[in-house]
Amino acid sequence: MNTGAPRATIERLCRYQQVLAQLERERVETASSADIGRLAVTNAAQVRKDFSHFGDFGRRGVGYSVSELRARLRAILGTENERTVVIIGAGNLGSALAGYPGFEMRGFRVVAIFDNNPAKIGHWVEGLRILPLSDLATVAAEQRIDIAVIAVPEAAAQAVADQVVEAGIKAILNFAPVYIQVPADVGARTVGVTCQLEYLSYFLAQSQGSSEAEES
Ligand code: NAD
Repeated sequence: MNTGAPRATIERLCRYQQVLAQLERERVETASSADIGRLAVTNAAQVRKDFSHFGDFGRRGVGYSVSELRARLRAILGTENERTVVIIGAGNLGSALAGYPGFEMRGFRVVAIFDNNPAKIGHWVEGLRILPLSDLATVAAEQRIDIAVIAVPEAAAQAVADQVVEAGIKAILNFAPVYIQVPADVGARTVGVTCQLEYLSYFLAQSQGSSEAEES
């Protein structure tokens, strides 16, 4: 997945977008790079450097207009027009994601949910009728689906990813705890909450280790 700017920059742009959404909710009209950096747990120089990949953002010393900056970041992230999303796997996670209001607020609309369990197909979740996975290609063609979210068990994830690719969908957010293989023209991200917990566990081990060292 080649986006031009470094991957870490794009990840920070998402964090800045989250911070700006929060400022907008709080009716803050202007924010400096220092404000954004502090709230996004980085610093002003990093914020300016990240923006510099995308041309002149101006406003040095004046602060950025929160709404203008949000619109600019939306254009960079490609969310100024709504992105359509399907969820595959209408289980615990898939159903919870289907009802998450945060997607719509940031420009992502969940248009369909799929499963392969006949006992679930035809039932409703969050206003969406659960469709058989065999309908994926038709729905993708009719509704121009941008992103597929995979929320099936690990053992089924790669086969489902293959079906997503075959349906012509070019981006996948995978929640199954396995790295899926996709062609070079398909963007894939695997979300691992357990990895985040491991990161925090490492942090705890380090800080406990250093306090033990201080005590001895
Ligand atoms: P679940 O068992 O409640 O739901 C899985 C659903 O997928 C079921 O409805 C099942 O019928 C459906 N399914 C199975 N094979 C399928 C196929 N080939 N095609 C279409 N649908 C299929 O499981 P869950 O708790 O919702 O978890 C879903 C996935 O998310 C699992 O892989 C789990 O490990 C993962 N998970 C990830 C995180 C994370 O941090 N990323 C957190 C929790 C769960």
